[in-house]
Amino acid sequence: TEELLRKSEKLSVVGQIAAGVAHEIRNPLTSLKGFIQFLQAGAPNKEEYFQIMLSELSRIELIITEMLVLAKPQMQNFQPKSVEAILHNVVTLLESQANLSDVQFVMSIEPDLPNIWCEENQLKQTFINLIKNAMEAMPEGGHIDIKVSSDRGEWLKITVKDHGCGIPQEVLARLGEPFYTTKEKGTGLGFMISYKIIEDHRGHMMVESKVGEGTVISVSLPVTMD
Ligand code: ADP
Ligand code: MG
Repeated sequence: TEELLRKSEKLSVVGQIAAGVAHEIRNPLTSLKGFIQFLQAGAPNKEEYFQIMLSELSRIELIITEMLVLAKPQMQNFQPKSVEAILHNVVTLLESQANLSDVQFVMSIEPDLPNIWCEENQLKQTFINLIKNAMEAMPEGGHIDIKVSSDRGEWLKITVKDHGCGIPQEVLARLGEPFYTTKEKGTGLGFMISYKIIEDHRGHMMVESKVGEGTVISVSLPVTMD
């Protein structure tokens, strides 16, 4: 299955995001409140409660960190940067996590690629999201192919290919919808944010996936932005 993600209302509906954030944050807040009341009432197993409270707080923190990417001002910080350098940086960042899950990154980068105008931290965020999803799709480990090539000197094409579980049609149809996740500890924000960032860079994102075989995410970015 293949689906070109377009500028679609599902990705930019502020109300939907607000409702999602409120909902996602209310759950851990409600449980925090409950634990504080237990502790106030002199509950015995304090250590266990503290543990849970910390993990609920981390969850709120993660959701807010991911949302902040969306709130950042656009365009001001655009600079010409090397995609190769950005990807090496991201891969280094994810290396220890990859080792733990027996994942190897196989990089294939065309030489002498032009720089692209971008907000470096945002592009890093995008590739972190995509590569994390790829790793999470391969709990048994394996390799992830990361390729960068030039498309007629006008675009850079970056692909992240995993050999994981693949994305079933019903999930594919909802990719990019805020807070849609199939993971127990997922936020369902990674894809939406990545999509938004690539759109801000006047690029495109494509998903090709086969259940049981794996997924290829292709990101195309324009070399010049005028
Ligand atoms: P999260 O990773 O927090 O669940 P994302 O927005 O990053 O949120 O992804 C949404 C959903 O899309 C995931 O829960 C997963 O079901 C699916 N998905 C995304 N990337 C992949 C992939 N490479 N392989 C399989 N499923 C994927
Ligand atoms: Mg994700």
